[in-house]
Amino acid sequence: MAGIYVHVPFCKVKCHYCDFHFSVQLKNRAALIASICNELVIRQNYIGDEPVRTIYFGGGTPSVIEIELLNEILQTIRLNYTIDPDCEITLECNPDDLEEEKLIALHKFGVNRLSIGIQSFNNNVLEFMNRAHNSTQATNSVIMAKACGFDNITIDLIYGVPGTTMETWKNQLDLMLELGVPHLSAYCLTIEENTVFGNWQKKGKLKPYEDQESLKQFQYLIDFMEKNGYEQYEISNFARPSFISKHNSAYWLGEKYLGVGPSAHSFNGAKRSWNVANNPKYIQLIKKEEAFNEEETLSLKDQFNEYILTRLRTKWGIALADLTEISAEMLADSMPVLMDNIAEGNLVKNGDVYTLTNQGKYIADGISADLFSDVP
Ligand code: SF4
Repeated sequence: MAGIYVHVPFCKVKCHYCDFHFSVQLKNRAALIASICNELVIRQNYIGDEPVRTIYFGGGTPSVIEIELLNEILQTIRLNYTIDPDCEITLECNPDDLEEEKLIALHKFGVNRLSIGIQSFNNNVLEFMNRAHNSTQATNSVIMAKACGFDNITIDLIYGVPGTTMETWKNQLDLMLELGVPHLSAYCLTIEENTVFGNWQKKGKLKPYEDQESLKQFQYLIDFMEKNGYEQYEISNFARPSFISKHNSAYWLGEKYLGVGPSAHSFNGAKRSWNVANNPKYIQLIKKEEAFNEEETLSLKDQFNEYILTRLRTKWGIALADLTEISAEMLADSMPVLMDNIAEGNLVKNGDVYTLTNQGKYIADGISADLFSDVP
């Protein structure tokens, strides 16, 4: 089984916290989508006859372009790949792009999961982050999507936003629950260097949120979601039964995926490749049939560390059998750290699988870093 990720690198506006690859110049979109379709044909062998279990349109904001262009990509995939009958087809979208006609067409084209970039239901927060939508559009987008036949919906929410309080965060979660959203991805705001927020911070115009306050919001999130029947299957992801994201889970479980479009990454278990992160260059290189990506073969150390980084954050945890298969020597080296974390109550052991406790979830990145191998 394999997955396909399609990077649609266009957005209406630039959000103040975002450092993804995208352009707000939409004029080249038809040429770019044609290039993505070409890439899908050129790289058909990457997946071969393996059934495609998930297709994920991410970005950027895929919903900002015409649905006919999105459908061209889907048609190209259907023509060139074997699609599993239960294929999960997700489209990332923003609330301000959604209207009834568009939603009905997307559903008809086969999109069966919507990932709505709500980020906040609070107008002050949305304005502060330079989001293109308002609170009413956020709420209406979920109601409308449900009315148009989408039952598999996930939304993104951000906590730890400067100028907000615990009350602001609690209200977001209450609204999410009221709307009956079955999946939530919740992220703590991080300030990246090459963003508007990063620039404000450098100039002293923005004071980042206190770590302790973010932690309290994260703790509240975990309790709230558990109480309301959502499983935290990854640190930032919560799902009601049967709504776990198949696509993201496949990443974390190390399954094969093909990523097409500018800046998209692909992984086949041994090698990782990444496409050029420049729209005009991508179009040109595909047209001239020249190399448009670079690749690296993962060393044993990369495989070991990557396994820890992705798996430790999930409910599937890290299994000794898997780590032994990668490198028994590296595992022996990391074993004392595993033991210490068990003793400190950050990890629990079930059979040969280690998973994070709630206490461990608050310091997950630190635990991963300590477990990484530095065996040459
Ligand atoms: S819409 Fe999404 S991808 Fe586009 S700028 Fe905002 S956060 Fe970044």
